[in-house]
Amino acid sequence: MAGISIAGVSKGYGPQHARMMALQHLDLEIADNQFVTLLGPSGCGKTTTLRLIAGYVTPDTGSIDVGGRQLSSPARVISPEARGMGMVFQNYAVWPHKTVYENVAFGLKLRKLAGVQLRNKVEEALQLVNLGGLEARFPNELSGGQQQRVALARSLVVEPDILLLDEPLSNLDAKLRERMRSELKQLQRRTGITFIYVTHDQAEALALSDQIAVMHGGRLQQYGSPFEVYTQPANRIVADFMGLVNFVPGQIASLEGRQAKVSTEIGQDIAVPVAAGLEEGAAVDIAIRPENITLAAAADAANRARIRERVFLGNICEYTVALPGGALLRVQTHPLQQFAEGDAVVVSIDPGQCSVFSSEPVAEAKAVA
Ligand code: ATP
Repeated sequence: MAGISIAGVSKGYGPQHARMMALQHLDLEIADNQFVTLLGPSGCGKTTTLRLIAGYVTPDTGSIDVGGRQLSSPARVISPEARGMGMVFQNYAVWPHKTVYENVAFGLKLRKLAGVQLRNKVEEALQLVNLGGLEARFPNELSGGQQQRVALARSLVVEPDILLLDEPLSNLDAKLRERMRSELKQLQRRTGITFIYVTHDQAEALALSDQIAVMHGGRLQQYGSPFEVYTQPANRIVADFMGLVNFVPGQIASLEGRQAKVSTEIGQDIAVPVAAGLEEGAAVDIAIRPENITLAAAADAANRARIRERVFLGNICEYTVALPGGALLRVQTHPLQQFAEGDAVVVSIDPGQCSVFSSEPVAEAKAVA
């Protein structure tokens, strides 16, 4: 049982009078046997969170429990070695003077394992990461991907309940990263170990995770499945970070309960649900992704949106469309639907795929758990 409960955890660095808060009031419940990703831009507190879970840093407030046992609080932190967790770093951190076999065997030898039992466990871990046959090589005789697999095998061989991975693929080239991505996901499924994975790459997070914790400015912005955080972003920050998005300015024309009709330059009376606090007349932005906008040839050219730019990307066509009022939209269509630059088009959006946010600037996003 390795469910993780993080409750009210904050962590700052520096002296008390000038404390820089890296993480503020983090609440996160991570179920057993999950692949969870901490996602956000540089400096948002991802690594601090991982180091708190690993036991390398002490929280200023709050607590971290695993399987019902408290591992961290401001008063007491159980040491990293006694937590049943493994850690894999961006720079592999394999020992250059040890062979693949010795690298992987090291943790088991510390636990006094020897003989056939040791050999079997090392072989098993190497098979798990597809490194069978390379036991005698030194790290400088391996590719980056193979070195990262040694690091994985070394962490897995001691059978951790939880594996913490800090941007483990970022030193690999794009193709290898994609392959290792799918291997990591399969590995997590096969072993049933809870993986907590740090990345700033949203595509990686979408591809790998059961749940994504989107972070920004030391705060959790949203915790949900890849589908939820992409299609129902909790706020403007999440909408913006999870891929391309258009923010179309508008105004709430009418409101019934929480169901609004919003008038925008794209269309009048777009029916969308809005959050509490947004009232009739409020200035809002409708967030809509480029793939949820459709274009059709306009019968007449008067007062129409126009294609400003067209980029053919193979599997899609990406258009920049200028609305009559001058605002620009990014639109993605099937590559066979072709418009030329200058064409007049009718723009329509699927209200079911829109999110609505206040257009008031937000000083700091509200954390949404
Ligand atoms: P990256 O993707 O760049 O690694 P991150 O999201 O992992 O970023 P953290 O490493 O958790 O972010 O850092 C969060 C904030 O805390 C940053 O502003 C960072 O400069 C600061 N910070 C992290 N570690 C320390 C430290 N040991 N001393 C002082 N400040 C720190």
